[in-house]
Amino acid sequence: MSESKDFLRTIVEEDLASGKYTEIATRFPPEPNGFPHIGHAKSICINFGIANDYKGHCNLRMDDTNPTTEDTQYVEALKDAVEWLGFDWEGSVRFTSDYFSELYGYAVELIKMGKAYVDSVDEEQMRALRGTVTQAGKRSQYANRSIEENLDLFERMKNGEFENGEHVLRAKIDMGAANMKMRDPLLYRIRHAHHFRAGDAWSIYPMYDFAHCLSDYMEGITHSICTLEFENNRDIYNWVLETLGLGEKSPRPYQHEFARLGINYTVMSKRKLLELVEAGKVSGWDDPRLPTIAGYKRRGYTPESILNFCDGIGIAKANSMVDVAQLEFSIRDDLNKKVPRVLAVLDPLKVTIENYDGFEEIDAPYYPHDVPKEGSRKLPFSKEIYIERDDFNENPPKGYYRLTTKQSVRLRHAYIITCKEVIKDDNGKIVEIKAVYSPDSKSGEDTSGIKVKSAIQWVSANEAKKVEIRLYDRLFKDESPEGLEDINPDSLKVIKNALIEPAVITDKPDVRFQFERQGYFYADPVDYTNEKPVFNKIVGLKDSWGKKKKTDTPAPKPQVKKEQIDGEVVAMTEVEKALFDKYITELKLNTEVANTLARDEKLSSFFETSLYEYDSAVILANLVANDVARELKEIEVNNLKFNAKQVAQLVKMIDDETISNKIAKQVFEEMVKSGNNPIQIVEAKGLIQISDPSKISPIIDEVIAKNPDNVAKFQAGNTKLLGFFVGQVLKATGGKANPKVVNELVADKLK
Ligand code: ATP
Ligand code: MG
Repeated sequence: MSESKDFLRTIVEEDLASGKYTEIATRFPPEPNGFPHIGHAKSICINFGIANDYKGHCNLRMDDTNPTTEDTQYVEALKDAVEWLGFDWEGSVRFTSDYFSELYGYAVELIKMGKAYVDSVDEEQMRALRGTVTQAGKRSQYANRSIEENLDLFERMKNGEFENGEHVLRAKIDMGAANMKMRDPLLYRIRHAHHFRAGDAWSIYPMYDFAHCLSDYMEGITHSICTLEFENNRDIYNWVLETLGLGEKSPRPYQHEFARLGINYTVMSKRKLLELVEAGKVSGWDDPRLPTIAGYKRRGYTPESILNFCDGIGIAKANSMVDVAQLEFSIRDDLNKKVPRVLAVLDPLKVTIENYDGFEEIDAPYYPHDVPKEGSRKLPFSKEIYIERDDFNENPPKGYYRLTTKQSVRLRHAYIITCKEVIKDDNGKIVEIKAVYSPDSKSGEDTSGIKVKSAIQWVSANEAKKVEIRLYDRLFKDESPEGLEDINPDSLKVIKNALIEPAVITDKPDVRFQFERQGYFYADPVDYTNEKPVFNKIVGLKDSWGKKKKTDTPAPKPQVKKEQIDGEVVAMTEVEKALFDKYITELKLNTEVANTLARDEKLSSFFETSLYEYDSAVILANLVANDVARELKEIEVNNLKFNAKQVAQLVKMIDDETISNKIAKQVFEEMVKSGNNPIQIVEAKGLIQISDPSKISPIIDEVIAKNPDNVAKFQAGNTKLLGFFVGQVLKATGGKANPKVVNELVADKLK
């Protein structure tokens, strides 16, 4: 259990302490209309996790009340996800459809109490009668039907005597309720459709708001945990149970809401995922680029890494977006402790070692010293080997540490080689390197005295096995993708002729590996055969996306420093690691920022000092890791003109919306130069953010008037132009307008 308790566990503990319940019962209630995704993993961790922590139990319930979208393949995928994450549900899998008869009975009871009625207005009328946020709704003329008539109609609805949409059953609550959900919500609708479990037995299906609370009640659930979008449905949940008098004898369930998980660079609803699957943009629900559990599983993620991730992001009451880098950190962190290190070459370049004759097998450990696991394999070594094409460079840039015509390099676990001749084809492409090796330079017994700056991977030409490698990148190029148009065209790259050392295929020491200097890889559970091995890239060795984003031309491969010859980033000290963990789990910083701060004592102490002044970790951390860090590269802390307290003041002004982020940059530059207090700078320069709509409005009108073409395009459906208008308005105010307000006003005016 996590150290600091989340608000749900606090509620559970209070309910146990007060004796409200003797045993905790939760449930995970997915609708089987798609494959579960990482958001569901969060819900699974919460529901099963709480049940485990308090020695209660958790049910797995398929919320199958919509016959047109549900299917058994989804039921299986949901069961599989829960099991794979390591949880057990209580008893057999439950289905809301198993309760259809009971639910029908409860509905009849409500009708008899005069608390439900059959309505027969069409959808449009129903919407019109519902009123608005500021206006009460009105009941339809059918609300006065007698109990007998309602009972008769409802039974005939069940018997299939009416068309879809002809009638609905509604709760009789309050058409004037401030909570619009309470304005006589629907309880049942007619659906002539085959249900994957109930067959054709029913022509009516219960709505979520009616079925969910009663299913919870019937199963003896105590804490019905759901996501925030159901906050307003909570009143219906309570109304149904209370009106039916349930919970008077035995304890009844209560609903509690938490924030949905969102991750950048992906879409997360089953509906949007289905779109990708159906449009053939991915190979299926288990495509390794999808955020589905089946996709993560196929890609090679471990259940532990997903659990750690869910634990790390915590449970909150406000929706937020989690950086996908944090998920990638979890898997990297997990695999780093577990998997064998092996040699593979993705883009082979032949090297002939002219002074080597014969053959030998080098004993090489699978694991580095800091992984407490044993095991080694024989690495065949011979005259002909392959190295990675970009580990040789004829015209090396500064800081290139690998093989060149002048610089020797170590072959990992083996000898140092030196280039003697570069052989090219007619097009000038390098096809082979002729090299010599130093016989007294063997790894572990090197007496050669030759200094090299790095070790590279290689395979012996004769013994290496050909493998297919699938490299995955983010499925979307956009941080918050809207749809298919934001797909990253380069999210999958297949390498057909990569080479790997033979032990990986013949010994099979594991299914997951670190290919040294390349990343973590997984033997594809579907397509892998001994004859045609296929590996999926799980994740790289470090976060390279941030760098890639900035330049469109491919960045040179990161240089390998002496300490990094295992392909690992320099290990953190224990103190740094502890700080890093705290930053990630407690302060919820993103991995990159946490990493920057934790590894640099000057930065972390500056950050902590400012955090002590003003408690707004994320914004402070970003500012320190980027802007302050830039200054500290040039000068010592003591010589900075500004201090941690002033940075805290600056962040406070961002937080309370006195200034915009953009202006904050400007103020910071001024602080760097003059050392003036940020509050003074803002006042002296008149930089206070403009949030007053009446001041912003005329500027927007002007921008709109100047751009009639774009207005027309926007209104014809090109909603991306919203950004254009907002940008123009911000520009016109010198960056002083509050972007949030501008956004809302612009959207409103363009409607
Ligand atoms: P989707 O929009 O993907 O279909 P949903 O909420 O309709 O999601 P359900 O199958 O009804 O999916 O959800 C089962 C449980 O998982 C619910 O309790 C729901 O609140 C939870 N859940 C779904 N998505 C997320 C998410 N992104 N973060 C946390 N919990 C989620
Ligand atoms: Mg749904």
